[in-house]
Amino acid sequence: MDGHCLCGAVRITAIPSSQAASACHCAACRRWTGAAMWAVEAAAAEVRVTGEVRTYRSSPLAERAFCPACGTHLWIRDDGKDYDLMPGLFDAASEFPLSHEVYADRAFACVRLAGSHPRASRAEYENSHPFVEGDAR
Ligand SMILES: [Zn+2]
Ligand SMILES: [Zn+2]
Repeated sequence: MDGHCLCGAVRITAIPSSQAASACHCAACRRWTGAAMWAVEAAAAEVRVTGEVRTYRSSPLAERAFCPACGTHLWIRDDGKDYDLMPGLFDAASEFPLSHEVYADRAFACVRLAGSHPRASRAEYENSHPFVEGDAR
């Protein structure tokens, strides 16, 4: 799928790992996105990026990338791992269903998501994944 930021300076081509998007309600994602973060996963080898990208190291484990010209959020990526790309960059992602939510018990009221998809609470997620104390405050 082909995508781009709001101003078009950054272009991304990616083959997603699955045709679905996940959601994260951790405090860092809430703050970064405005309320919740949606992500389409793609292996690093399946992502091509052109244009200048700025990154912000949001934790010792991960960086978040954005376009320095228009500010569009592009991805979050744990070091050396797959990309979690912002679905809004890609018109082809517009019909991707929600695969699962993490930090579901931390969701703002305005983005509590209906449906029977899998949900992990903060405790459930942090029991099974690396995380940074304070990142999810
Ligand atoms: Zn841009
Ligand atoms: Zn998060």
